[in-house]
Amino acid sequence: MLLLALCVPALTGCAESQDTPALQQTTYASAADLGSFCDRLPRAAYAGLPKHESSNDWFEVYEVEAGVFAIYEPFQWQEVISYLIVGSEAAALFDTGNGIGDIRAVVEQLTDRPVRVINSHSHFDHIGGNYQFDDVLSIATEFSLERTHGVDSAEIRMEVSPEALCRDLPEGVSEAAHKTRPFSITARLADGDVVDIGGRQLEILHIPGHAPDAIALLDREAGYLWSGDSFYEGPIWLFFPETDLVAYRASVAKLAAVATDLKAVFPAHNTPKADPELLLRLRDDLDRVLTGQVEPVPVGDGNVEFPFAGFSFLMRENYHSIPAE
Ligand SMILES: [Zn+2]
Repeated sequence: MLLLALCVPALTGCAESQDTPALQQTTYASAADLGSFCDRLPRAAYAGLPKHESSNDWFEVYEVEAGVFAIYEPFQWQEVISYLIVGSEAAALFDTGNGIGDIRAVVEQLTDRPVRVINSHSHFDHIGGNYQFDDVLSIATEFSLERTHGVDSAEIRMEVSPEALCRDLPEGVSEAAHKTRPFSITARLADGDVVDIGGRQLEILHIPGHAPDAIALLDREAGYLWSGDSFYEGPIWLFFPETDLVAYRASVAKLAAVATDLKAVFPAHNTPKADPELLLRLRDDLDRVLTGQVEPVPVGDGNVEFPFAGFSFLMRENYHSIPAE
């Protein structure tokens, strides 16, 4: 994720945003401006990956490993990545993106197997296409259940404003009308559950912190981990009212504990394939931050950033340090 100097209604206390009891909002600001994000494209990390034709040009599709497709939204500032993981019996779709392009059309082009949507967590940029599918698996926290009602246009209008885009919106999508549509959770997941798609066993790791319902998917046999927003190469957002830094610390330790068995990590933003070694650094750098060993960099609106090589942490300036053990 990049940082913004703008007010993002879905995430901030903008005047037009709709507060709900379950989703109090906060403010943040940034060092970088939104206009510069298009200049990063195309990212070098994609250059060596096999690219597939996409039936919907809102998305770019890369086969990051055999039968594992990154479905990337490069033209919207979140640069969110959903993943289609194809098994012999079914396919798992780990997140459905912003709901701006027709992700179902892309998925149907890539597989004819039944598709099971699994959400990494319930922030709007990961559940936008859920409504297009009738099999949606999710951890069912209060936060997740509240999000099944969708997200109003007023809250995510900025996400489809010209400043947030590097190209025109697809036909039929408008800044005024765009919203996250309601959907149903058809199966509830719990930590340790295994989703068998035939030839691939996808284990659910509940890793709350970034969001209460955050999960990672682990394919132990292949050595693959899909990390959602709990880790990606960029500023990791830890400033939400629903963020829990104590839980995040434990979750990051859980990811680091499997890192040495991994061949690849597939994050949910920016770049689709990361070195598992970064999970060890994530754990160590977060520990240093939370024990007060790193000086925060103010980025405005009550937020601070802790930059490290390859990623950073964005937190509220009044985050609570955890005493050293
Ligand atoms: Zn998120």
